[in-house]
Amino acid sequence: MTVALGPSTFAAPGAFPTSIFGSYYNDPTQTSSQVQPVISDPVTHVVYPLSLTSPDSIPLLDTKDPTPFPPPASADAIAAAAIRQIQLIASPNTPSSPFINDPCAACQAILLPAKFAFLAAPSEGASIAVALCEALDLESSTEACEVGFGQFGLANVLTQVISNADVAGYDGQAICFQFGNGACPRPPTTPLNLTGWFAKPKPDPLPARRTPTGERLKVLHLSDFHIDPRFKTGAEANCSSGLCCRENAFAQSSPNATIMPAPRFGSYLCDTPYALALAALESVPVLTGTQGTGFNFTIYTGDLVSHDPMNELSRDYVLYTEETIVYELFKKILGSGPVYAALGNHDTQQSAQDSPHSLGGNLTDQFSWNYDHVAGLWELEGWVDKTAAQLARANYGAYMVQRRDGLRVITLNTDFWYGSNVFNYFNMTNPDNSGMLRFLTDELQDAEDAGDKVWILGHVLSGFSGGDGIENPTDLFYQIVDRFSPHVIANIFWGHSHMDHFQIYYSNNGTNMSAETALAVSWIGPSVTPLTDLNSGFRMYEVDSNTFEILDAFTWTSDVSSFPELDSQLEFGPTYSLEYNTRETYGPAVPGWGPNDPLNATWWHRVTEAMETNSTLISSFNDFLTKQSPFNSPCNSTCEAARICYMRSGSSPIAFQNCAPGF
Ligand SMILES: [Zn+2]
Ligand SMILES: [Zn+2]
Repeated sequence: MTVALGPSTFAAPGAFPTSIFGSYYNDPTQTSSQVQPVISDPVTHVVYPLSLTSPDSIPLLDTKDPTPFPPPASADAIAAAAIRQIQLIASPNTPSSPFINDPCAACQAILLPAKFAFLAAPSEGASIAVALCEALDLESSTEACEVGFGQFGLANVLTQVISNADVAGYDGQAICFQFGNGACPRPPTTPLNLTGWFAKPKPDPLPARRTPTGERLKVLHLSDFHIDPRFKTGAEANCSSGLCCRENAFAQSSPNATIMPAPRFGSYLCDTPYALALAALESVPVLTGTQGTGFNFTIYTGDLVSHDPMNELSRDYVLYTEETIVYELFKKILGSGPVYAALGNHDTQQSAQDSPHSLGGNLTDQFSWNYDHVAGLWELEGWVDKTAAQLARANYGAYMVQRRDGLRVITLNTDFWYGSNVFNYFNMTNPDNSGMLRFLTDELQDAEDAGDKVWILGHVLSGFSGGDGIENPTDLFYQIVDRFSPHVIANIFWGHSHMDHFQIYYSNNGTNMSAETALAVSWIGPSVTPLTDLNSGFRMYEVDSNTFEILDAFTWTSDVSSFPELDSQLEFGPTYSLEYNTRETYGPAVPGWGPNDPLNATWWHRVTEAMETNSTLISSFNDFLTKQSPFNSPCNSTCEAARICYMRSGSSPIAFQNCAPGF
């Protein structure tokens, strides 16, 4: 079959067939550009403008067409979405998840959805915080997470902190190290930039050492009372978890029968009952020879409140303890002489939490109820004047007292370097997020300018085992001590460990530790509470009235293992007796040190040198550490070396860098 075709070629017309469109924006018959017909949409009746198709002005971004977004999620939908992602990162449902073999990446990734959910839906903070607790295994069960991190637990703290934290950076790594069961390695100490930190360089030469007067002041050092007004005599004293000597305490091995009924004067796994508190305080004036005279002054290095589980604590309980026990009992029993007190990590609610003013808004003053209260008490007792009390109200309970004798006492709220204060975990590369160390530095500069001496009081020690003090702030503290020692800072005092020990601070960040470079020493006061597995104790210093250096130190203790014998009779209470005199114990190891030479950093460094070769000396230290508790564990040579190392570690970075962990 043949197909019929037209001609084999066709030349189209050169002119545009102008009749195709009704009208044109340009001349359709010209030869220099393409036609631009006027198009009218037959449905919308819109006439499309030349600018839509003009080759000379192509529009680059259409801003007219709608771009639909979903509506904002409700707070509970945001929380639900975040919780789903948190759970998926913690328990991936794909075998190739990058989080399966990388706990640090998983932990920091878990914090990301939490951060944005806390920001967008703070009202849902409790459910997100509980999900975080479960994902990071912060507690042993869902129920425990709900108590610890729910609405009445740390949910509000976590919401504030995680929403402000650089969770993908340094803050997140530190959070995962500290709270995520070590999921991330400990982040390195941030290099310090001290430019502009100090108003003046350290004087060179230093001002001449003050001349001792030979007059000795008596100063009492009490620490870690931890009074337990809920102590129940006869309850389980040998319980398997938490605070013993409480109605609900029991031993796992014997849940229905009490193994060891709580003696009324206390026990090793319990805080201080009223009976022991009074016995200790009544012993003080008699043993120290201050009956009728009182002390020149007393220092209290923190922790008044008992170690209750979080859900048993409240603001009222903290206020009751602050008011009723420590301060009022001190006033009644210790006689005249002011008491200078620093706040401990237990002296707040929730425990260990204190927030920096930099949070702003209605969060700036969220802990003022506590600072106002203690400042009011100190002022009422006549221990600090109006100015110091006002400073304490505005400055986290920390203050400076300018005594008439040329000594200034500066207290710190050390929760701002305490590892368990969750509020420390944002803006962490700033070593002074709270301003506490700025305050200290300015006060020290004032004291230097005035030629005054300073004692610094705080609670959580700046170094030692490194586990409690956060690196960046304690690193800065160490540099401040270097700048103002020994000509301004005469002594430093801490509590918190409940043990009896000390730390030495050296020049040049401790790169060369010697008697010549030792600048300052901190004395860590033994606790009154026997918790944990310790005897009860207190200390008195004899202090030169012009140099404010310590010339002698006496430590008294009571053997808690003897307390059961004191039950069922009223004739005798606990016996406190002199455990040791510091100079008599260690002094013979430091030849050439006169009887009136101070027990200063140089002396203490030489004591540590003697300990390196004299095992009797270090074993005495080891006994005194626990106030000679029967539970004291023996210290082998590795332990002895570590102990000496920690004595020379005044900051956490130095302790981490130099010392074996675990001692
Ligand atoms: Zn304590
Ligand atoms: Zn403490």
